[in-house]
Amino acid sequence: MSTKSKLQTERNKQKESLKNEIQSANLNCADCGQKSPEWVSINLGVVVCLSCSGIHRSLGTHVSKIRSICLDDIPLTTLAVLQKLGNAKVNQLLEHTIPSSFIKCNPNSEGYVLCKLFFYSGLYFVREKFIKEKYMLKLFVNPNDQKSHEELNCQLYQSAKLEDLLSILEAICHGGNVNCVSSDLSQNGRTPLHAASLENKELSVELLLQNSASHSVKDADGKTPRELAVNSNFYKIVDILDSYDPFSSGRKKRSIEGDDKSLESED
Ligand SMILES: [Zn+2]
Repeated sequence: MSTKSKLQTERNKQKESLKNEIQSANLNCADCGQKSPEWVSINLGVVVCLSCSGIHRSLGTHVSKIRSICLDDIPLTTLAVLQKLGNAKVNQLLEHTIPSSFIKCNPNSEGYVLCKLFFYSGLYFVREKFIKEKYMLKLFVNPNDQKSHEELNCQLYQSAKLEDLLSILEAICHGGNVNCVSSDLSQNGRTPLHAASLENKELSVELLLQNSASHSVKDADGKTPRELAVNSNFYKIVDILDSYDPFSSGRKKRSIEGDDKSLESED
C-alpha cells in the first residue's frame, strides 16, 4: 500500500471513530429531542434530526450549515470541532433560559401556533418558530450575561488563542464580531483568526472560518493569517485556511485535507 493510501486509510479510521463518538454523545436531537439524530450543524456544533435539519437549512448557511453525519464526507477538523462542542454544551448556551411563555418543540411538534415573530403576527409551525427563536433571535441565551462589544471581542480573541471553542461560540452568539481587530496595540492589529493561526490552534481556526471569519484581512504588518501560519511552519493551519473559499465563507467544492483532496459540498 502506498504512503498516500495508508494516510487515507488512517484518516478514514479517525473520521469513523470521531463520528461514533459524536453520535454516542448526542443521542437526541438538540432541538426537539428526537432519538438517533443524524444531521449536524457544523458551525453551531449541534446534532439534529431530519425534521429540524430542514428548518436549519431554511434559515440559510449564514445561520446554520447542515451536513449528514452518515452521508457527507466531513473533514476531520470539522468532526473534531463537533466532538468538542455537542448538544449538551451548546444547549447550555442557546437554551440557557426558556421562559414559560415559549413552547419548546418536541419530536411530535407538527402543529401551528398564532404568534408574533420578526415583527409579523401569523401562524407559525411550532418547530420552525422555536428554532428561529433559538438560533436567529438567540432569545434563550443567559439574559444576565450582558457584555459590551469590546468585552465580547476581547473574549473572542483570547478564546481563539486558547482554543476554548464554547467560549468562541458564546461570544459570537452574544454579538461579538468574528473579524474584530484587537484593541491591544501589542497584538499588532490582529483578528481572532490571526491569533488562532499564530498559536497553531486548528480547531479555533476551523470554528472561526465556519462562522464567517475572513482569511484575507491583514494585520498591522500587512500579514494575513495564512502568511503568519506559513512563517511558523504550521502547515495544517495553512491547509485549513486554503480549503475555504474567501468569497463565500464556506469550504471550496474541492478542498484540501492533508495531502489528499476530497470532494465537499458547497455552502
Ligand atoms: Zn429535531
